[in-house]
Amino acid sequence: AVPSETPQAPGGDAVDKQEDDDKEDKAAQSLLNKLIRNNLVQSTHQVEVLQRDPNSPLYSVKSFEELHLKPELLQGVYGMGFNRPSKIQETALPMMLAEPPQNLIAQSQSGTGKTAAFVLAMLSRVDPSQKHPQCLCLSPTYELALQTGQVIELMGKQSPDIKLAYAVRGNRLEKGQRISEQIVIGTPGTVMDWCTKLRFIDTKNIKVFVLDEADVMIATQGHQDQSIRIQRSLPPGCQMLLFSATFEESVWKFAQKVVPEHNLIKLKREEETLDTIKQYYVLCNNKEEKYQALCNIYGAITIAQAMIFCHTRKTAGWLAAELSKEGHQVALLSGEMMVEQRAAVIQRFREGKEKVLVTTNVCARGIDVEQVSVVINFDLPVDKDGNPDCETYLHRIGRTGRFGKRGLAINMVESKHSMNILNRIQDHFNKKVEKLDTDDLDEIE
Ligand code: ADP
Repeated sequence: AVPSETPQAPGGDAVDKQEDDDKEDKAAQSLLNKLIRNNLVQSTHQVEVLQRDPNSPLYSVKSFEELHLKPELLQGVYGMGFNRPSKIQETALPMMLAEPPQNLIAQSQSGTGKTAAFVLAMLSRVDPSQKHPQCLCLSPTYELALQTGQVIELMGKQSPDIKLAYAVRGNRLEKGQRISEQIVIGTPGTVMDWCTKLRFIDTKNIKVFVLDEADVMIATQGHQDQSIRIQRSLPPGCQMLLFSATFEESVWKFAQKVVPEHNLIKLKREEETLDTIKQYYVLCNNKEEKYQALCNIYGAITIAQAMIFCHTRKTAGWLAAELSKEGHQVALLSGEMMVEQRAAVIQRFREGKEKVLVTTNVCARGIDVEQVSVVINFDLPVDKDGNPDCETYLHRIGRTGRFGKRGLAINMVESKHSMNILNRIQDHFNKKVEKLDTDDLDEIE
């Protein structure tokens, strides 16, 4: 089991501020994504490639055989159930495995196969007969390092001579000890100490340096400087690889700083759209009326699975309890849960064990549950200043074209103020949200 160190929102029950749930914890979100993901996120876009040397040929592979991997590594890949490279792997793998080694910055949304790609690159560059660190991988947190470590162990299963060491806090070594494992994965602070002060890691033979989740990395104070210091201690000619799910200016600046003379690969994320969604709103005066409206909706239409979003933990808890009393099988997801607990709840819901998922903002992103036919905004999404959060609205109810299923979204409006927010959301997307009379529900059937 992976021990969780996810920062908890302070204050417990007494503090039920929206910020508790809204406080964006990138590392926790990323970990949650990894824990609940069991397959690739497909993309219909083409990768964009910017080569450092535009004259060098650009290879892309359609099979793992074409990469001429060591047999035990190819076995490792197939053993994981991978049949063919993912979209980003098609281009990234030949580039990462090329001789002489090339540097790479790659960006694509989570779930597109970046981790598997760099793990494969590290494993294939290791000389198992040499008992010293050859690949160094930095992850933003302890938990994320463990997740990547598991991928290394799985893919390297058929390569028993390749060993992995974790440079994470709590892992103590004897003074003067030297790491003999060929791959070291860790967090920036510990890796830096191990490379410099404590000298557990001899950087002189490092051939591959990987910086994973660069966007999460730079969101943490100090990680950026530590990563740069580690990078500077590496030998010339060391291959540098950087991965990120997002690519705002700050990430790009950091990437360019730590990865000189790079190739660049980007894969656009699939657009979400409201086109296949029927959007409604219901006028109420308070939360009890909202609850009554919800019951009416449940009484009138058949709902396979629904997700209901609330503003605060308190509302979510109350609503889940009320729905349970009515006999619904309810799953509750909220901010005080540890990432592993949240992942387990989502997994159960995905398997259909519960039909209703009540959740706060914190869990809105990154969950796509295909069979969810109805999304209910028990509270409309607003940012911390109380303005409409259109991006979150789209994430909650939008679908990517690939699922193609029609969906239903119902917004509960309880005051002039929230009507105003809904109007602004309508204007933003230029899509009409129809009024629904919950005493007469024929129209949505
Ligand atoms: P990322 O690092 O971009 O988030 P991962 O490498 O973790 O993506 O891959 C996402 C999921 O897809 C994982 O469950 C992984 O095992 C799986 N996966 C990765 N590459 C392939 C592939 N070529 N074929 C099938 N599944 C893959």
